[in-house]
Formats: sequence, structure tokens, C-alpha cells
Amino acid sequence: MDLYEHMGKDLFRAHAIATPHGIVATSPEEAATATAELGGRSVVKVQVQVGGRGKGGGVVLVDSPERAAEEAARMLGSDFKEHEVTQVLVEELLPIAREFYTSIMLDRSTGGYLAMMTAEGGVDIETLAVERPEALRRVGIDPALGLRPWHVRELTATLPPDAREGAGEVLRKVWDLLGARDLTLVEVNPLVQLEDGAVVALDAKVTVDDNALFRHPDLEVLSAQFPIDPVEARAREADLQYVKLDGEVGIIGNGAGLVMSTLDVVAQAGGRAANFLDVGGGASAEKMATSLQVVLSDPAVRCVFINIFGGITRCDVVAAGILGALDRVEARVPLVVRLDGTNAAEGRRILGEAAHPRIVPVATMDDAAAEAARLAGAAA
Ligand code: GDP
Ligand code: MN
Repeated sequence: MDLYEHMGKDLFRAHAIATPHGIVATSPEEAATATAELGGRSVVKVQVQVGGRGKGGGVVLVDSPERAAEEAARMLGSDFKEHEVTQVLVEELLPIAREFYTSIMLDRSTGGYLAMMTAEGGVDIETLAVERPEALRRVGIDPALGLRPWHVRELTATLPPDAREGAGEVLRKVWDLLGARDLTLVEVNPLVQLEDGAVVALDAKVTVDDNALFRHPDLEVLSAQFPIDPVEARAREADLQYVKLDGEVGIIGNGAGLVMSTLDVVAQAGGRAANFLDVGGGASAEKMATSLQVVLSDPAVRCVFINIFGGITRCDVVAAGILGALDRVEARVPLVVRLDGTNAAEGRRILGEAAHPRIVPVATMDDAAAEAARLAGAAA
């Protein structure tokens, strides 16, 4: 779960990491009042689960409550990079002398953490890593050992000498915060040094490990503030495991393992999966109809591959379920159906007799994947 900046900064404050004083506003009036409270000047920032706000007009410095209200009115009425803006953060303006960058994230490839720091903050870190890798310090941290003094010295070494102490302090506190709240990412871009020398976190990008949310009820409740994707919400309501992906072949299967291998065979056949969807057991007409609605609501889908292996679930019931679903849902694309396992012959016979114009029955998983990839490609 990616937190809004103001939520991340609340965690920072709770761990004594210095960050600007800010007030969340959900209306232009609130933004004006907040700016007046902060001394008549402020920075107004959209709260969205996506970065690059500075360049995209999502961060604006204002010099009066009226200007703050204008900017808030513009931001709150709009989308930022297709993310609905429902909150803005109104912050005190600080006298910034220099901008740095730091982050600590879970590194799945090593089973440890990766800490990074550079004196060149405020920039796009991916670009810096490619163009001037020597400017970016990267240190692997063994979770059993933790963040040690030599890590801190290595990371802060390229910073101006008078900023190293303060930046090191932020690193140590970020490390503690990461462990205490089960975070997989904390990124501070920029970490700034003020004119008086103090080091302050000006931005906060924080990701919480969803699997650990049960240990942090105060974080779990925050998820209610994020806009939910209507398709994913629908799938969740129907108790379907759905994950949106980037491709064109819609996938419906029963059992997480089978759906994972379906994604693989589709990729092998040169297709790109549009989603992961596990209908679970049963695969009744009801569930199949909802699954098809969910998958077909993605405009990128050009073909659907329904891959069912009958165990306790019987293929004849699934076949009837698919036909029943097509009475309620209009299939705007071809449906490649592969049935195998319990009562597969009966299931195929039912589909064969129905001779639905959109259904393409295929006997094996590999052939079905190839057919689905071909149909999706032909439609493109
Ligand atoms: P992002 O672009 O989404 O990462 O948003 P940031 O929170 O990093 O803000 C973008 C930029 O706005 C920062 O790099 C700063 O240069 C500028 N900025 C934000 N707050 C202040 C502030 O209080 N004072 C000044 N002078 N600049 C600020
Ligand atoms: Mn930033």
C-alpha cells in the first residue's frame, strides 16, 4: 500500500524525523485557512499515489491564502496523471539551501535492503543512476545486522560535510521506522538542508507491506482514503482474485497455480495477459458471469482465455456456467475455452452443442494459449 505524502510524514514525525509543518485540505476554503495559519505563504501539493508532481504542476508555491484557494480549487477538481485528487497538503515554506536524495527499500533479489543517497536531490533518480552512477551511493543492508555506522558513513560521504551528521540521523531513524512499521520502501526526495544547516525530509514516499497490515490497524484504516478501482472493487465483492495487467488476453482460470501457469503459456505463445483472475471453486453461472464482466470491462482485452481444470469442480457445470453467463453478458470478443479434468468430455459436448458464435473450444492448454494469442493479435 502506497501512502499519501502526508500520511508518510505523520509516520516521520512519530519517529522524530524532521519534516515541514503541514495541514491537509479537502476544499479551497480549507487551503486558504491553512495558508493563513502558516503565515500567509505556503506550498500546495496534490496527494496522489504517484510521483513527479513537481514537474506536472502538482506542487505550487503560493504567497497568499487567496492564491492557495485558487490552486486548491484547480487541483481538487481534476485528475493528476489519471489519479483522482481528493486532498491537498498545505505546507509551510522553508528556506532551502540544498536538495539531496535518500531511500531505503526492500531488495527482493538479495533478501535484504538497499539504501541509497546522493547529494543531487530533487532529480529523477532512475536517470541519475544510469547517467552518473558514481554520484549515487548504494549500500546493501543485511536485515540481521541492521544499519551500521559504516553504512551511514559510506552513504553520506558525498554530501557537504556540514550535512552529514543530520543526514545520517535521518537514515538511522528511517531504518528504525522501516522495521517498526513493516515498510518496504521509504524514499525522501528531496531531503533538504535548510539555510540554518538543519536537514529536513521535504517529501515522503512510503510503501507499507500489505501482508503485515494486520499488525498495524492504524495503517490499515488509511486504505479507506484511497480511491478504489471500480473493476477491482467489483471483483473483490464477488470474492474473485483479480489483478490487472498490461496485455490484451483476458484470463479466467480456477486455482491460483493454474492461472499462474496460464499467464506463462500465454506469454510463451507470444501473447500478453490482460489480467490474473482466479474464479476459485464452483465456477457457477453467477461467478462466471461476474468474472466475464470484470475481465471484459478492461477495454484492452481483445480475447478471453478460459482455462478450467475440473477437480471437485465439474467441467459440465462450468460449461453450463459459461453459457449461462453469456445470457447476461455480451461477449464482445472471442472466448477460447479449454476444459480438462472431471467430466471434461461432457463439458465439451455441452459447449459443442450450444455452438455459441463467440466460443472457441480448444482441447489442450498450449493450443488454447496459441489460439488466444493469435486471436488477440489478429484483433489488434
Ligand atoms: P514530487 O515532484 O512529487 O516528488 O514532489 P516534491 O514533494 O518532491 O516537491 C517537488 C519540488 O517542490 C521539490 O523538489 C522542491 O524543489 C519544491 N518544494 C517543495 N516544497 C518546498 C518548499 O517548502 N520550499 C521551496 N522553496 N521549494 C519547495
Ligand atoms: Mn519528491
